[in-house]
Amino acid sequence: MENIAVIGAGTMGNGIAHVFAQKGFKVQLIDAQATALEKAMATIGKNLDRQIAKQIISAENKASTLANISTYATIEEGVVNADLVIEAATENSEIKKKIFASLDEYAKPDCILATNTSSISIGQLAAVTKRPSLVIGMHFMNPVPIMKLVEIITGASTAVSVTEIIVALTKTIDKIPCVVKDAPGFIANRILMPMINEAIYAFSEGISDAATIDQIMKLGMAHPMGPLQLADYIGLDVCKNIMIIMQEGFNNTKYAPCPLLVKMVEEGKLGIKSGEGFYKY
Ligand code: NAD
Repeated sequence: MENIAVIGAGTMGNGIAHVFAQKGFKVQLIDAQATALEKAMATIGKNLDRQIAKQIISAENKASTLANISTYATIEEGVVNADLVIEAATENSEIKKKIFASLDEYAKPDCILATNTSSISIGQLAAVTKRPSLVIGMHFMNPVPIMKLVEIITGASTAVSVTEIIVALTKTIDKIPCVVKDAPGFIANRILMPMINEAIYAFSEGISDAATIDQIMKLGMAHPMGPLQLADYIGLDVCKNIMIIMQEGFNNTKYAPCPLLVKMVEEGKLGIKSGEGFYKY
């Protein structure tokens, strides 16, 4: 593996580009929005500065990391040389299906197609390609440069050899792979999102304020961050979409997003990225 294309330069895409470029891979970062690419490069620069300040990396490493990343406006241009594509675009199955169909057309025939989806079925995305055995989930955690876990999701058609390659690659970027089967929300979000949703119910019923709910979960359960603050970090739109995908995938209303979560998303209160969620930023 030499060339890694990353589709989507948002919260996750810039972190994924950062960690691969830092380990010497050539990264092609692709986004439909020019402003997203500019913002991503600025964020990567800032995060590298933070690593320099903490003496994790040298100034030379910052320069070589940035030099390893090139940006592209289209999939067509960006993926031609890729050995692996990691799709980290908006969490919407129609958008992702279109991207996978286009990746199948423009990426090399032996290029592995991975998705960073939080909850969408790997099988559904594999089905729009002519290479389902080369499609796999690589679910990074936010913030990518810091979090160690990568949930590796194998679809029904994913080749064992592809899973082995991706597990080995994950270790080379100093992350820890955990392999799971394809199911709505996989493991991480199937357990995390109902907890966040329940915290939003407790908040909406006025059982306690946001800071107290978060404090209870931090002190009582040794969670580093409370569920409402975490929801703000993840993005309330992302949380809502994952709940809907699990509700539809399991055909079970226990996964329905809390009405307050739906309302906040409609009002544009998306958490940190919009400046307001359960807290103001
Ligand atoms: P985001 O909204 O921050 O970024 C998505 C980017 O994708 C945007 O810049 C957008 O312009 C781009 N995009 C959309 N359609 C595109 C297309 N057709 N071609 C190229 N670029 C396109 O989203 P995010 O939070 O980075 O999430 C990305 C993926 O990662 C989602 O699948 C999400 O579920 C998953 N994820 C998110 C988190 C999190 O904490 N935010 C954690 C793990 C996984």
